[in-house]
Amino acid sequence: MSGAVLLERERLTSGTTWHTAGLLWQLRPSDVEVELLAHTRRVVSRELEEETGLHTGWIQNGGLFIASNRQRLDEYKRLMSLGKAYGVESHVLSPAETKTLYPLMNVDDLYGTLYVPHDGTMDPAGTCSTLARAASARGAQVIENCPVTGIRVWTDDFGVRRVAGVETPHGSIQTPCVVNCAGVWASAVGRMAGVKVPLVAMHHAYVVTERIEGIQNMPNVRDHDASVYLRLQGDALSVGGYEANPIFWEEAVKSRTGAAGGLCLKTSTVKGCTVCSDDLRRA
Ligand SMILES: Cc1cc2nc3c(=O)[nH]c(=O)nc-3n(C[C@H](O)[C@H](O)[C@H](O)COP(=O)(O)OP(=O)(O)OC[C@H]3O[C@@H](n4cnc5c(N)ncnc54)[C@H](O)[C@@H]3O)c2cc1C
Repeated sequence: MSGAVLLERERLTSGTTWHTAGLLWQLRPSDVEVELLAHTRRVVSRELEEETGLHTGWIQNGGLFIASNRQRLDEYKRLMSLGKAYGVESHVLSPAETKTLYPLMNVDDLYGTLYVPHDGTMDPAGTCSTLARAASARGAQVIENCPVTGIRVWTDDFGVRRVAGVETPHGSIQTPCVVNCAGVWASAVGRMAGVKVPLVAMHHAYVVTERIEGIQNMPNVRDHDASVYLRLQGDALSVGGYEANPIFWEEAVKSRTGAAGGLCLKTSTVKGCTVCSDDLRRA
């Protein structure tokens, strides 16, 4: 990692990471994703802390996928088999078993659930600063308040465009290699090098409930049919949904409001969000 430089135009976590629910579900339909998630879980839950002495804020409260139709339950059974091949513990539960695990849940219309006991959440700020600490200890440099304002490119004898350096208001860095990790601003950074990044930003709404008696230590819940997730947040829930007709956020690049200096939605702008309708019948 020696020689790597991370340029952050504001402070670390000031982008999407500031807002993330930090949920880690180990079981996904693709085996590549399952392997990547297993690696991430190992790093976040154990290795980073061992290496740096800092806690990433990892909480292992388990994850619960809801099946509200037969096909979804079959899919979860397949996921359980995939998990077996990769050493991820999981259990398909009946509605009654689900009720025992999660007494507050309405299970009347459930076909069953998939319970993954070693799923959990990480604290985004904690994970980010721990990663930065580990990278710095291995020779990387993290420079905050230093926006990339330009990328110099040249064309070699074979007509291939190559990176020559990066411009910032504080000077330039000569380098043949740039990793564009600017999140929703990646298109703008790509344009600096004449590269089109196929990425579209859109609104994502979530609500945080008040204290709910008896919710402590319950697993996080994902309902794929209702497109909603319920993340345990102490003794409350953070509930987020993926809208069927999302509002594209063309102005993401220009949006620099809010204390985090990055992305911040005002409640009034989230009209059209479906999070608060029948998606919440589960809680
Ligand atoms: C409400 C919400 C919930 C989510 N929940 C989950 C979840 O449960 N699990 C999950 O896995 N994912 C979740 N996500 C997605 C996850 O948050 C993102 O995938 C992740 O945070 C993206 O990280 P990033 O580092 O790529 O981008 P960002 O965190 O956005 O970082 C990009 C950085 O680039 C900087 N930057 C931009 N332009 C420049 C420039 N010109 N020069 C220098 N720096 C620049 C920005 O300031 C920013 O800090 C959620 C997202 C949201 C909004």
